[in-house]
Amino acid sequence: MTANLLDFDLDGLAAFCEQLGEKRFRATQLFRWIHQRGASDFSQMTDLARSLRDKLPCVCHITPLPVLSRQQSSDGTIKWLFDVGGGNAVETVFIPEADRGTLCVSSQAGCAVGCRFCSTGHQGFSRNLSTGEILAQLWYAEHHLRAQFGQGERVITNVVMMGMGEPLQNYSALVPALRVMLDDHAYGLSRRRLTVSTSGVVPMIDRMAQDVPVALAVSLHAPNDALRDSLVPLNKKYPLAELLDACLRYLPAAPRDFITFEYCMLDGVNDQVEHAQQLVALMQRHGGRGVACKLNLIPFNPFPDSGLMCSPPAAVQRFAQILLAAGLVTTVRKTRGDDIDAACGQLAGDVLDRTNAAARLATARQTEQTVRWMPKERTL
Ligand code: SAH
Ligand code: SF4
Repeated sequence: MTANLLDFDLDGLAAFCEQLGEKRFRATQLFRWIHQRGASDFSQMTDLARSLRDKLPCVCHITPLPVLSRQQSSDGTIKWLFDVGGGNAVETVFIPEADRGTLCVSSQAGCAVGCRFCSTGHQGFSRNLSTGEILAQLWYAEHHLRAQFGQGERVITNVVMMGMGEPLQNYSALVPALRVMLDDHAYGLSRRRLTVSTSGVVPMIDRMAQDVPVALAVSLHAPNDALRDSLVPLNKKYPLAELLDACLRYLPAAPRDFITFEYCMLDGVNDQVEHAQQLVALMQRHGGRGVACKLNLIPFNPFPDSGLMCSPPAAVQRFAQILLAAGLVTTVRKTRGDDIDAACGQLAGDVLDRTNAAARLATARQTEQTVRWMPKERTL
């Protein structure tokens, strides 16, 4: 089988070209054709030597993921379902806003972490996506949207690794993909506009600080270990104190001077006054050593058999007010694209079953609704 060039970052592509006896600048040219111009056919690449254009199809290819479906919400949110083979599919969501376009990208088919409130987790783990499969989501979305909007400029300004899967449990494929997203010869995203969300794979948080220090979001969901053990089983391996220490260590490398913490609001489970107070105390304990944080409260998106419900708005507001009063920067997220949410539930059963669609998508469609920003972000 020949190589899929979507699998390479620029260094990888340069090494591949070297094997073909080609210089690095040829790799840069190829890389730009692929990622900046969305080319998948070598014959389009008119500034490459004819001999190279003829040789490339024999040794490599540029193969995107087949699209199983595309849905568009009245608010402009678009989701694609991509076929990754073997009966697996992954989802990617584009969320347009006035000042940016965010793509929510998947890193795995399924997820091994098994969080109680997450439909992906309930379905178990199928497999890691390759670098090329992670990048194919961005490659397709960017060039498809550019064609749709009829403009030559970049449409996707932000990427969040918040689709299906735990990105830090697919680290070796993730890192080259992030490098391509950041590369000025490809998508040229700034590190602050590229976010990796993790349920807390502590050693990989440290490695990411060294290898590719992009913005970090940590899925917290509980203010104490007993509750977090039951919601995010990975907590048994990397408990809260270790996780927050890793966040502190990450901070000097982080592109922004804070870490985002996600907290999914579950009715009667983690949304009580005592939980908010414990969360404040937890952050202050670690804040003593300088964690700056931003808390995102996410309304839970229910799915069949979860046995969980979303906290009522009053409970979310009460929770937020306690955090805000303690000086924690807190936002409540609002779900977008409700009309395709409905349509999402109507997808053919077999596709829905193997893609954990509903809950993961709602997460991706969330957009920030600021409750109240503190006048000045405080270091906790
Ligand atoms: N595995 C990574 C990234 C993907 S999940 C992680 O857990 O961080 C992205 C976000 O969606 C996480 O914060 C996760 O907690 C949240 N999420 C998962 N299921 C959800 C649901 N049913 N409703 C709302 N948010 C959910
Ligand atoms: Fe995996 Fe994230 Fe879902 Fe937990 S929330 S099961 S880590 S995708």
